Amino acid sequence: MSELNTTDFLDPMVFQRWINGRHLVRCLKVIAETHDVTTFTFNMNHPVLFLYKPGQFVTLELEIDGERVMRSYTISSSPSIPYSFSITVKRAPGGYVSNWLHDNLRSGDQIAIHGPVGRFNCMDFPSDKVLLLSGGVGITPMMSMARWWFDTDSSVDMVFAHSARTPKDVIYSHELAYMSTRIDTFKLHLICEKTEIGQAWNGYRGHLDIHMLKLIAEDYQDREIFCCGPVPYMTAVKKMLEESGFDMKRYHEESFDATPEKDVALAEKHANMAEIQDQQPKELVFLSFADSDETIEVDRGMNLNEAAISAGVNISKACGIGICGACRVKVISGEFDMLHSGGISDEEIEDGYILSCCTSIQSDMKIEY
Ligand SMILES: Cc1cc2nc3c(=O)[nH]c(=O)nc-3n(C[C@H](O)[C@H](O)[C@H](O)COP(=O)(O)OP(=O)(O)OC[C@H]3O[C@@H](n4cnc5c(N)ncnc54)[C@H](O)[C@@H]3O)c2cc1C
Repeated sequence: MSELNTTDFLDPMVFQRWINGRHLVRCLKVIAETHDVTTFTFNMNHPVLFLYKPGQFVTLELEIDGERVMRSYTISSSPSIPYSFSITVKRAPGGYVSNWLHDNLRSGDQIAIHGPVGRFNCMDFPSDKVLLLSGGVGITPMMSMARWWFDTDSSVDMVFAHSARTPKDVIYSHELAYMSTRIDTFKLHLICEKTEIGQAWNGYRGHLDIHMLKLIAEDYQDREIFCCGPVPYMTAVKKMLEESGFDMKRYHEESFDATPEKDVALAEKHANMAEIQDQQPKELVFLSFADSDETIEVDRGMNLNEAAISAGVNISKACGIGICGACRVKVISGEFDMLHSGGISDEEIEDGYILSCCTSIQSDMKIEY
């Protein structure tokens, strides 16, 4: 095996292309971005070109204290530098995985990841003029997009408005400043909630509102908007844009947080369904697999991924909660109930795809697998 980063290892003629799936990756670098944010850079043991759509994410599969845990992280690097990829992680106060990564993941360590996946990316919504709005660590997908357009000398006109708590919380501040001085199609605006004594600050202060937005991008109505940040930030941005008459078909957002109300509703629905199913006599339905021409009998209401496993059909899955999209399959016929958490787009659903990890079988069903 070649040593990492030798000339041989980086020979562009021997590279394979990265495709969505489960991969073992090796941590190359650990870079402190701010006091509570760290970037981890990875590659594989064999030469792979890490090509993905800027804005997409990977799901880490870790074993911590004997327990398997999964968390998704946006790829913060850009496919314009495809020899490695990076994630940028903020310590969540009391958070299990983010703090573990900060305290334990070191250069040379190997972990499993799933991906790359995600509809929130700049390739699927191409535009000549964009407005990137981010709050806190929600900057990561925007940074991947901005790096891509910058590195590829694209003519995309970018306005990047990033909100942080204080100046010392601004992630990638030097690189953003550098990019803004090199090309006139990159306009940077930083907004800080508060400043502390002794900190110089010449950016905006407070929270992004419509008056600030008009100063930042007078022509915001003509731009494709990408937004990512804490839930209250995104809720406020969305409301502000809706009230200003913005065409929301051109607004795209990514949420890092599970919305509590949605989680509660989802958990309740799962619990209710389980209770109803427990009380009812079991009804059997047929599940058929088009590729193997096999059919099995399963209980109506059974989870599709688990039902497939019981037939010896292993549909690869990662997060198990409908986030990462790893277990996507196409339905040929039948009724089902899917409770996903954003890992599949409306277009994919219209095309007949489902995420098997969060789908229950409601009638005889046939899937392409
Ligand atoms: C598509 C996607 C992309 C993402 N990209 C990024 C990224 O680029 N960078 C990044 O930093 N994060 C990103 N995230 C978020 C990331 O996946 C994790 O959710 C985040 O790191 C927190 O995980 P954790 O295990 O540290 O926290 P958890 O242990 O999951 O806890 C989360 C929060 O809940 C609180 N909490 C936990 N248990 C309880 C309880 N019982 N009662 C009350 N509060 C509790 C914790 O204190 C913490 O504040 C992304 C998420 C998604 C879905």
